[in-house]
Amino acid sequence: MGISQPVIIAGAGPVGCTAALRLAQAGIPVILLEGLAELPETLRASTFHPPSLDMLDELGMAAPLEAQGLVCRRYQYRDRRTGEIAEFDLEVLRGDTRHPYRLQAEQWKYTRLVWKELQTTHAALAQCHFNHSVKGVHQTSDGVEVLVWDRGVEKILHGSYLIAADGADSAIRKAVAIEFEGFTYPEKFLVASTPFPLETKFERLSPVNYVSDPEEWLVLLKTPTLWRVLIPTDPKIEDDALWLSDRWIQDRLHHMAPHDSDYEIIHRTIYRVHQRVAKTYRRGRVLLAGDSAHINNPLGGMGMNGGIHDAWNLSDKLIRIHHGEPAEPLLDLFAKQRRDICVRFVQEHTMNNKKLMESRDPDVQRKRQADLMRAAADPDLSRAFLLKTSMIQSLREAAAIA
Ligand SMILES: Cc1cc2nc3c(=O)[nH]c(=O)nc-3n(C[C@H](O)[C@H](O)[C@H](O)COP(=O)(O)OP(=O)(O)OC[C@H]3O[C@@H](n4cnc5c(N)ncnc54)[C@H](O)[C@@H]3O)c2cc1C
Repeated sequence: MGISQPVIIAGAGPVGCTAALRLAQAGIPVILLEGLAELPETLRASTFHPPSLDMLDELGMAAPLEAQGLVCRRYQYRDRRTGEIAEFDLEVLRGDTRHPYRLQAEQWKYTRLVWKELQTTHAALAQCHFNHSVKGVHQTSDGVEVLVWDRGVEKILHGSYLIAADGADSAIRKAVAIEFEGFTYPEKFLVASTPFPLETKFERLSPVNYVSDPEEWLVLLKTPTLWRVLIPTDPKIEDDALWLSDRWIQDRLHHMAPHDSDYEIIHRTIYRVHQRVAKTYRRGRVLLAGDSAHINNPLGGMGMNGGIHDAWNLSDKLIRIHHGEPAEPLLDLFAKQRRDICVRFVQEHTMNNKKLMESRDPDVQRKRQADLMRAAADPDLSRAFLLKTSMIQSLREAAAIA
């Protein structure tokens, strides 16, 4: 009775870590395999939305992460030309979530906490391995045989299911021949981070700001120690060295906020942005979650959060299977709920966000800002808007899919 063979999870990003900890806490054995020699500490997602914090709280991870993060109750949409600010206060969601705020904390802080928790509190049920890269999978009638490279040496691990949380370039998604449909934006995005207190340069700057501008939109995000500035690059110029150069970054930062000397730059990353969704999230006992299943532009912080919600939904189904419910309908339901909501909600919302922020039509910009200001000023409109942008509504709609 129940799942006795371990659930094998490829990838110790935020999604694989969430699934591993939730399953281990429910008494299900897991093997978490990370291809790298250590948990990556690259500059990636840094916003945890309220419902994700509710989930992390159930895992016992919200409080320790909060201790390393920045609680952000308000955030803003700014029009760079007019200076108008629409400020939303997440406190209106108090009846909808136990965490009516965003937490600004780098994703690696979360994975580090979970990895440690798995290795200490759950060592009896959770095996965690670095340098284990999943290369392929063979399915049998009652399990999976997973081909792994352990520092170049091949081995086969036996499990009940394989969760592909191995990121956007998922080797598992390719091995089971699932198409990754969608498109790639022509321009790359640059993220630069600086310890300079940017709040001294703008009036009333909140820790999260979406700044629209027909010439150059921006996102300004604060973490406990740094400001991150996200800027689009020119799609006509394929020259990463230029975009990563001091000259270009300083030029853009000084254009954003003039300053009498260079800004100190701690990190810089340039990356391609895609909108893609896997054709299915399930191939038998292989289940896709997180970036292996969907990727989108970072405007709105829905990539990592949507992935955590996938892991939550999938773990919930596996726990029910562990307690004796039939597997097939539950796994199909996971794939349907999470894929539908991704296509209908996350993809659409992130694409629209980008379109509106970068629009060159002054009327579109004016109307967008006016709509946002009206919504921010009205508690009912504000709540409706924040239910969507904080992803509570997408979870409710997913739960309603039968
Ligand atoms: C530069 C950058 C900036 C971003 N900024 C934001 C942002 O501001 N907001 C936002 O919401 N999202 C952002 N994202 C997206 C966000 O980081 C992802 O949505 C999130 O990391 C997805 O988590 P994941 O666990 O699915 O995948 P990942 O975090 O990619 O984790 C996958 C893990 O699997 C490991 N792995 C890969 N292949 C294998 C294999 N074959 N076997 C074993 N292990 C393997 C990898 O080493 C990695 O540790 C950004 C992404 C990038 C690249």
